[in-house]
Amino acid sequence: MMRKPIIAGNWKMNKSYSEAMTFTREVNQKIPSEDVMDTVICAPAIFLKGMEERAEDTPLQMGAQTMHFENSGAFTGEISPKSLADIGISFVIIGHSERREMFNETDETVNKKMHAAFREDLTPIMCCGETLNQKEEGFTEKVVSEQVTKGFNGLSKEQAKRAIVAYEPIWAIGTGRTSSPEDANKTCGLIRQVIEQLYDNETAQSVRIQYGGSVKPENISSLMEKEHIDGALVGGASLQADSFLAIIEGAK
Ligand code: PEP
Repeated sequence: MMRKPIIAGNWKMNKSYSEAMTFTREVNQKIPSEDVMDTVICAPAIFLKGMEERAEDTPLQMGAQTMHFENSGAFTGEISPKSLADIGISFVIIGHSERREMFNETDETVNKKMHAAFREDLTPIMCCGETLNQKEEGFTEKVVSEQVTKGFNGLSKEQAKRAIVAYEPIWAIGTGRTSSPEDANKTCGLIRQVIEQLYDNETAQSVRIQYGGSVKPENISSLMEKEHIDGALVGGASLQADSFLAIIEGAK
């Protein structure tokens, strides 16, 4: 099955609003058509509306880096799924390892957020991945299978098909140390197998799986050549327009 590639930048807590707007202007006209590839920038939430307006009528799409699972209530500082959808945001990263490590996200909250995303017609990019210790002790498969199984708990087949999974080995994030394309493909293949066991082959073949962890213009093509890798979630290298565009080019 041909799955449409998806390249998503995760800016984390970087850039000022004016830098974000300049970036959007610079890349806007150079983004491939949505028929060919999905191209997304997950920016700090307060940039999203302005960027979305600037990118209107272009294929560049915006995503949030997290959200709450409730649509309203006494959750000081949080952002609701409904408010993201209301300003035209299409994607949301859920369960990034930095959120899991520093902001107490668990498989249970990740699962609630997956349901909340679909409720508001947002496409979730659900992150999973093992620590260096877990890798060295041979627990990659166990950890990743569990994160995917718990994250997808209770999703319908139609929802599961639309979900995006980002396999991000934690030891590769922001370290310059990329997983080999073979190893990344193996774990992405395992994720597909888990989804097949949870649903069926058709669903597993529909889900798009990204690799993330020190993706750069130099390594994107060798990753994208692999059977189970449908795109990338890119941190550091998405911050500069030229390297983000080079990654998009290499992913075609
Ligand atoms: C990330 O934050 O999701 C990420 C993969 O970062 P980097 O590309 O900088 O390793």
